[in-house]
Amino acid sequence: MIVILEPNADASSNEYQQLIGHLSQLPGIQYRVHKVQGAQQTLTEIYLIGETATVDKEAVEAIPLVERVIRVSEEYRILGRHADRSRSTSFEYNGIEFSQDNLNIFAGLCAVDTREHVDLMMRALKDNGQQCTRMGAYKPRTNPYSFQGHGAKCLPYVFELAGKYDIRIIAMEITHENHLDEIRSALEQTGHPTGIMVQIGTRNTQNFELLKVVGRQQTFPVLLKRGFGITLEESLNAAEYLASEGNTRIVFGLRGMKSNAGDPHRNLVDFAHVPVVKRLTRMPVCIDPSHSAGTRAASSDNILDIFHVTAQGVIAGANMILVDFHPKPEVALVDGAQALLLEELPYFLEDVSIAREAYEKRREACKRLNSAKTNPDWQ
Ligand code: PEP
Ligand code: MN
Repeated sequence: MIVILEPNADASSNEYQQLIGHLSQLPGIQYRVHKVQGAQQTLTEIYLIGETATVDKEAVEAIPLVERVIRVSEEYRILGRHADRSRSTSFEYNGIEFSQDNLNIFAGLCAVDTREHVDLMMRALKDNGQQCTRMGAYKPRTNPYSFQGHGAKCLPYVFELAGKYDIRIIAMEITHENHLDEIRSALEQTGHPTGIMVQIGTRNTQNFELLKVVGRQQTFPVLLKRGFGITLEESLNAAEYLASEGNTRIVFGLRGMKSNAGDPHRNLVDFAHVPVVKRLTRMPVCIDPSHSAGTRAASSDNILDIFHVTAQGVIAGANMILVDFHPKPEVALVDGAQALLLEELPYFLEDVSIAREAYEKRREACKRLNSAKTNPDWQ
């Protein structure tokens, strides 16, 4: 059960104390207060855990300061929709909004290799009006002898260059909780020129201890990749781990499933789940066409598969795109085979906006369909 308070509820007010008094004496119920700091207001939600079936919803709703009470299903208590359409599906970070209604593009290097490549990548982004990127510093690799990223060493120059090119957010995977400290201190050292969206990779989707640590910090929002060999439900529960620890600024990432059924693609593209995740939860949904398709192959229409699958995700309502580019894919240390070229960036962006426009037209058509259904003549 979730008790939603009126915006900007004051924890020192008598009403608040009255509410806490009421909740504390409910038998078998524990409560946890969760505050969401928005641009305009602070929202307070109190989660009731335990035998909530016995709780009198109307009695709680009658307490001043309580806006409404939602009975939640067991699934995804915090992130789920629970048939309540008015709960927020958006958050803001470093001036950029993430929501189930908009679209952000994070094009960038799969792995940081040289300062020069970071510079070229970010300059191209700025030239094309982009303020977000991806930059891998900590790379989980299948083969222990493969390059695993420059780690903390590259962070200062990556952050400095982000400042130089007005990059507001870098999506960056971490594989260990210590990486959070390394990122924090490099940001401190460089004067906070940019923001970080912490990425949990597909290999760590069910690393519950890592999820708890990342969920407990509120500084950085999180991009949680779907686990490549587990069910959607299991991956959504992994997102709920983050939320249950306090961090609800989460984007859920689809990146394809490991299966021979996807051959010759690297993974089986799973972007049909974009609307499913948006229906089941309040998280904005990201697609990663690079790690899904994993190839620069093009079809007989000459359009690259990566462009095609991106368009498929966007036309289904995706809210974020994480995509690999590289100034010289032939020398990239990780995933060069799936990297798009800097010269392709404006065409990629154009293709994305064509698909987004088509999605918006589909929404309009659907609105007309729904209003036609309310007509008494509808069969
Ligand atoms: C990545 O985005 O660089 C990455 C390793 O992705 P995934 O965890 O989805 O394999
Ligand atoms: Mn990669």
